[in-house]
Amino acid sequence: MTTKYYLWTVGCQMNKADSEKLAAGFDRVGLKATDRMERADVVVLNTCSVRQHAEDRAYSKLGRLRELKRERPGLKVALMGCMVGLKTDDLEKRFPMVDVFARPQQFDGIMGLVEGQPEDLGGEFWPTTYAIPEGPAAYVPVVHGCNKFCTYCIVPYRRGREKSRPMDEIVREVAYLTAHGVREVTLLGQTVEAYGHDLPDAPDLGDLMRELSGLERLARIRFLTSYPRDMTHRILEAVAELPKVMECFSLPVQAGSDAVLDSMRRGYTKAEYLAKLAEVRDLMPAAGITTDIIVGYPGETEADFEETCALLESVRFDKVHVAAYSPRPGTIAWRKLPDDIPAAEKARRLHRVEEIEERISQEINATYAGTVQEILVEGVRGEQPFGRTRTGKLVHLDAPARIGSLVDVRIEHAGAFSLRGAVEDAVLMA
Ligand code: SF4
Repeated sequence: MTTKYYLWTVGCQMNKADSEKLAAGFDRVGLKATDRMERADVVVLNTCSVRQHAEDRAYSKLGRLRELKRERPGLKVALMGCMVGLKTDDLEKRFPMVDVFARPQQFDGIMGLVEGQPEDLGGEFWPTTYAIPEGPAAYVPVVHGCNKFCTYCIVPYRRGREKSRPMDEIVREVAYLTAHGVREVTLLGQTVEAYGHDLPDAPDLGDLMRELSGLERLARIRFLTSYPRDMTHRILEAVAELPKVMECFSLPVQAGSDAVLDSMRRGYTKAEYLAKLAEVRDLMPAAGITTDIIVGYPGETEADFEETCALLESVRFDKVHVAAYSPRPGTIAWRKLPDDIPAAEKARRLHRVEEIEERISQEINATYAGTVQEILVEGVRGEQPFGRTRTGKLVHLDAPARIGSLVDVRIEHAGAFSLRGAVEDAVLMA
């Protein structure tokens, strides 16, 4: 009888990419996926610790798994991802029915749960195990972990220090993906411009982009998430020069006040962040730039918050992802700083940022009306094909278009969250 696995994933693109890799490993040894936990022989929960809500969802799944394991003691259970730290004693006590605790990318222990596991685990198995892509756009992790230790963030403790994948391994993977219909890759890293500093000859992200640009069937390269201090002029020049690299940046600022940035240990001042942004806009005036903001960080005064709002008004980001601060156990802020902003005040600040963001997004999107934009058709929702502009704007198309094709679209309608338009021309048919 075929062994079935159920793989549940929450969190960032990095987690999704990890799950795809693990699923490809299971597929390679003959397991079959199921979307029902109750029908699986092996259950893997790939977890996220960035917000309490994500952890709560995993706890609820673990509660159900406790019952399932009682009914079927042969069921294998693995807990993977950012909820698993260096020490697992507490988790082992709380969840004795879990067979394997695995930190991000530590797939080998999980593979040990299944029969017929390959002998070269940790050798040639993982570098040459690729997920079959589901559409024309795929995520490719290029650097794992983070060395920055921002006070509020759990990532460095759970994903470890920055570790880059060898360039030839990434090129092989992307070539495989393009041979299976992928036209766009997003290069992933917690701080993606950190790519390469730990490799022999220290190539940088620009070198990797140059190498990938040579793959004929690859049409577009994106990258995230950016970190201002790692974003060198050399990398920015590569983004500006290489036609296949999209001028689209995810550049978290987190706060507009130097006092808060300092307390967060973000490693830059507001002026330094703005100087980096000016460098981007100098080289690529039309670049799409999104950011992340945390409101209600410990000690954030009303004046600090006003500085954040003023920064948003002056920079005018294409999109702002805002979150209310919540202490994550194990972080520096959790250990040292009282969570002193009341929940209602955090909610007020959050809504204020959302209002600013929606108004500015709408205004920026309105400037697209009447223009012609190159779109990669990524899929269909309902009956409507959709894709994104070079700058990352979501566009819904009014008429059928082939998934995976690059098309020129005249934008006819602009909302705060997306654009709508009609295809004028196919730029390149896949
Ligand atoms: S740069 Fe800071 S916020 Fe981003 S992953 Fe690293 S520690 Fe976390």
